Amino acid sequence: MSKTNRREFLLESVPLIAAPLLISLFPEKALAGPTVQGDWRYCGKCSSMFWNGTTNKGRCSAGGGHQAQGYDFVLPYGTLAETPTAQVSWRFCDKCYAMFFDGFADKGRCPAGGGHHAQGFVFRLPHDINADGGNQGNWRYCQKCKAMFYDGFPGKGSCPAGGGHQAQGYAFVLPHGAEPSRNVAADLHLRSGLSTDGWAPISGWVDIVMKPNGDYVFSGHVHNAGAVNIRYSLAAVVATPSGQSFGFGIKGHRVDGTETVFGRNRDHNWSQAKNDPRIARNWDSVAQGTLSWRLAASATITSTIEKFIDDTAREAFQKLAQRMNASPGGQAAKFYMNLLLTL
Ligand SMILES: [Zn+2]
Ligand SMILES: [Zn+2]
Ligand SMILES: [Zn+2]
Repeated sequence: MSKTNRREFLLESVPLIAAPLLISLFPEKALAGPTVQGDWRYCGKCSSMFWNGTTNKGRCSAGGGHQAQGYDFVLPYGTLAETPTAQVSWRFCDKCYAMFFDGFADKGRCPAGGGHHAQGFVFRLPHDINADGGNQGNWRYCQKCKAMFYDGFPGKGSCPAGGGHQAQGYAFVLPHGAEPSRNVAADLHLRSGLSTDGWAPISGWVDIVMKPNGDYVFSGHVHNAGAVNIRYSLAAVVATPSGQSFGFGIKGHRVDGTETVFGRNRDHNWSQAKNDPRIARNWDSVAQGTLSWRLAASATITSTIEKFIDDTAREAFQKLAQRMNASPGGQAAKFYMNLLLTL
């Protein structure tokens, strides 16, 4: 049965059957080799692997339900023997929807309270094999909560046992569809109001959208509500946990005050759409990006706009690094600047 049909089956069945039962009732995919289940995803909030195949998103230790990001993992299950490079006893928890290791009497720590509770298939997950375009490495067992989590970022997510997850044992390499899922919900959309803390009567907003394929849009609006003409410069930066920063700038643009009588332009509106492969290459990290900005009167900038953007990016990254280093197991990556656009 195709994936689409399987989804349709799921939607039709939801009102009829209690959600936990669905897991064991799925029609199996007609594939050679071990049977696999799709819709296993990385949660961008807690960094755990969770099952995203129904409208219920389980319980996330970072609050609310899990939030899918990146690849759609397809994981093998069935009555399979343990091998030197594949471990059995991995199960779906029907309380929090995470993938957890059920091979011990202790069932770890579930964000829904108590230990995890196994339901449905028994998964056999590959480890200590080579990662490639269809198999992602850096997946690890957390010895604190017993869930599978992604260990490839400096920040270690949110562990239900407190702090970040803590890796132990095998280095898992998990199979996924070749391309990250490209749905609209997975886009990064950051927006912030702009103000000047009183040095000038100008205000507005800046907006940045980034997509998994590297497409981005840098847009914004600045209005001069005062009498005096003002030249302003703006630095806007997306800082990410891997250390990659993406910079945007407005260089010395004039917004007129009421002193300009003829051809007065009190507003500056801009919107530029482009593509940069560095966004696509770093998508897992970019998807967790945060926006920082600085607004200055152009006359007060003694260096170049590039330096102004770079300074803003370094400051944003230092704050991010402080937060990450304060969490157990967290470690800041090196700072990299990718200057994308200056208008
Ligand atoms: Zn989560
Ligand atoms: Zn659980
Ligand atoms: Zn954990």
